[in-house]
Amino acid sequence: MHIKSDTEIYGIIGHPIKHSISPIVHNAAFEDLKMNCIYESFDVLPENIDNAILGIKSLNIKGINVTIPFKEAVIPLLDYLSDNSKRIGAVNTIKNNNGHLEGYNTDASGFTISLLEQGIQIKDKDIVIIGAGGAARAIVFALATNGAHSILIANRTKERAKNLCDYANKNYNFKCSYCTINEVYNIENIDILINATNVGMYPRIDLSPVDEIIICKAKFVYDLIYNPRKTLFLKYAQSYGIKNSNGLSMLINQANCSFKIWTGKNFNKKLVNDMINKKEFAK
Ligand code: NAP
Repeated sequence: MHIKSDTEIYGIIGHPIKHSISPIVHNAAFEDLKMNCIYESFDVLPENIDNAILGIKSLNIKGINVTIPFKEAVIPLLDYLSDNSKRIGAVNTIKNNNGHLEGYNTDASGFTISLLEQGIQIKDKDIVIIGAGGAARAIVFALATNGAHSILIANRTKERAKNLCDYANKNYNFKCSYCTINEVYNIENIDILINATNVGMYPRIDLSPVDEIIICKAKFVYDLIYNPRKTLFLKYAQSYGIKNSNGLSMLINQANCSFKIWTGKNFNKKLVNDMINKKEFAK
């Protein structure tokens, strides 16, 4: 990549940030499309988030992805919020539109497109989500707006599951309930089982958020984690012959949606996927 004085700057802010693979994704896309742009990662301490957002304007950074722990914190610092980001209550993409900072959320669409690409329909399905954090919130939005029949949110901290469930019942017209992870064992019919926790992520790859007694009841199993590619959660699904997916396609699709917001173009998802696979990962 040849950086010049007029090279446009994009990036991601989070803390910590060094494990993010977003720079691989976007730099591969810029290079492939021969765009004079570069994507960097910025480790921002929580006490510096306001200054970091001001810096987007003053340094004329063209676009920024936002990750943990800032997806909610950036909201009051922006000039405009898309309907989706308002409804989800989180921003993962900021576009600098001539000094006007616009906030978007592409996690939900990234997840929906990822399921569609794998031939999985959301409409009329009974779905269990393990986890009630920021990612689970975007997924509830995606499921609710695509016609899911019911959603059960199972989380370690019951209060957080209740909060997300209350939000869903208030905002969408479908059946949402909640329980702790231990209580999910009573459920019989699961069309789609989703892990939206970080349990099983590298380096704690010996863990699964629920054990196989639950997993074997599902018709399709999705783990938002992509490092490792096959978590213990997915290995259990595999051992029962259940179709399953890791979170890499969601990551690539949400990145492509952000890229489109910034540049008006789609990138080549296969090329980006191949580029990620070339890099070192704990499998
Ligand atoms: P978050 O807001 O911090 O939420 C973390 C969730 O994990 C909470 O529900 C938390 O439960 C649960 N959890 C953490 N440690 C646990 C443990 N030891 N046992 C049981 N539950 C535990 O994080 P997030 O943004 O929602 O991200 C969640 C996961 O999704 C991460 O692995 C992230 O990498 C992944 N993700 C993937 C993509 C993608 O594109 N593939 C996009 C976004 C996120 P409590 O409420 O009890 O703390």
